[in-house]
Amino acid sequence: MKVAARSAGEIAMAVRSRSATATQVVSLTLDRIEAVNPAINAFVDIFKARAMSAAEDVDARIAKGENLPLAGVPVALKDNMCLGPDLHAPGDTRGYGGRTTCASRILENYRSPFTATAAQRLIEAGAVIVGKTNLDEFAMGSSTEWSIFGPTRNPWDTERVAGGSSGGSAAAVAAGLVPLALGSDTGGSIRQPASHCGVVGVKPTYGRVSRYGLAAFASSLDQIGPMGATVADAALALEVLCGHDPLDSTSAPRAVPAWSAELGRPVEALRLGVPKQARGAGVQPEVTAALDRAVEALRGAGGKFVEVDLPLTDEGIAAYYIIAPAEASSNLARFDGVRYGRRAALGPGEGLFELYCKSRGEGFGDEVRRRIMLGTHVLSAGYHDAYYTTAQKVRRRVLDDFSRAFAACDVIVMPAAPGPAFGIGEKLNDPLAMYLEDVFTVGVNLAGLPGVTVPAGFVSEAGRDLPVGVQIIAPAFEEGVMLRAAAMLERALALPRRNPVIS
Ligand code: GLN
Repeated sequence: MKVAARSAGEIAMAVRSRSATATQVVSLTLDRIEAVNPAINAFVDIFKARAMSAAEDVDARIAKGENLPLAGVPVALKDNMCLGPDLHAPGDTRGYGGRTTCASRILENYRSPFTATAAQRLIEAGAVIVGKTNLDEFAMGSSTEWSIFGPTRNPWDTERVAGGSSGGSAAAVAAGLVPLALGSDTGGSIRQPASHCGVVGVKPTYGRVSRYGLAAFASSLDQIGPMGATVADAALALEVLCGHDPLDSTSAPRAVPAWSAELGRPVEALRLGVPKQARGAGVQPEVTAALDRAVEALRGAGGKFVEVDLPLTDEGIAAYYIIAPAEASSNLARFDGVRYGRRAALGPGEGLFELYCKSRGEGFGDEVRRRIMLGTHVLSAGYHDAYYTTAQKVRRRVLDDFSRAFAACDVIVMPAAPGPAFGIGEKLNDPLAMYLEDVFTVGVNLAGLPGVTVPAGFVSEAGRDLPVGVQIIAPAFEEGVMLRAAAMLERALALPRRNPVIS
């Protein structure tokens, strides 16, 4: 069986019907990861023995007649989600354990005593976690270059970034190493790398998926979501991930519909809102062309085009880069060299103050330090009103603009990023250019909405074909409409399945 060509749905079906075993699937997957990962650096940890024993457990559960929606499906986890040594499956006391590094020196050797609810749900559904994926340190970045493990490389062109911060997860799916991976999205970190790698990435409504066991970046914005090769696989994973969790106080007590069963049903008289701002300055023509193709395809499938206005698209990015660092500076205050993480060695006469300064100074990388300084500044007495309070007002108006737009349309279609994947190193010394990557994604987080990136074809740059995605956004808790529209787009575009040739 060629695992690379198989979807999560197909693998689960094969394992459930016993035409394949989880052990076979996982063993082939591990071989392929071992062969391909050195070229793209998507995985930072590979669970060889643990994944094999977890696969054996899945086969045993199948033999007992358990009905597992993700039976034997290999999954990768972004390395800001915890896997503890605690129970993972009924009867399994071995657990995964391993490190949760957040790609940061400060957590380089951190072992969590507990497991993220999202991971736990995947395991209960029969998935096998085969490893942890690379990210920008603490998920702060848009390129997966700010990592102690070095950059993840885009499988379509290894001289380019995979996007970020969930670049490892996106690249792992794009390279066919795993059919599903989890990312986290605070300002676009699932949707932008999905666009750059040519995969589907879902950022659910705020509150849909438990963040218990996710290292917090900006708590009013963070969401966990699935990345997969197809809308159907992403929907399948989303169904498993969603649902109330008493361990996360922001988790929404909402029923989880059977989204994957509904994907074949088109949205009747679908009204497609396309914001004027999608064609604004700074958007590369290839991206506009991909958007036009997507809108045309959806119109061909019965959709009706409506122009909408998201006038605060630019202001949204300014508000995001105040609110997210403010929350990050507060969330990261816990890394003080005392309770967890790296503790610096002290010289003679040095005390607690030096311990804090040295541990944090050695432990955090440049971008995280920049965010902490920005966040501390905008929250400081005297600047709080000018920056933080103003940004909160903009945030409210961004939500109002989306609400107004959704009065005229069912879903909004716009780019996920202003261009295709850029070169490694290209934006590393230009924080503003890096931040502008997020112009089309942060609004969704500020407003708490669901958004999904769907591959929309390829553009040719310097002799290489690079994928470009489009983003579909829906009102809060309307993942059903969003995924059905995404499936309509996928069917209408009918892109041939292509696998990158990784050199
Ligand atoms: N690129 C954005 C940032 O750097 C978003 C990151 C994310 O969604 N985690 O903050």
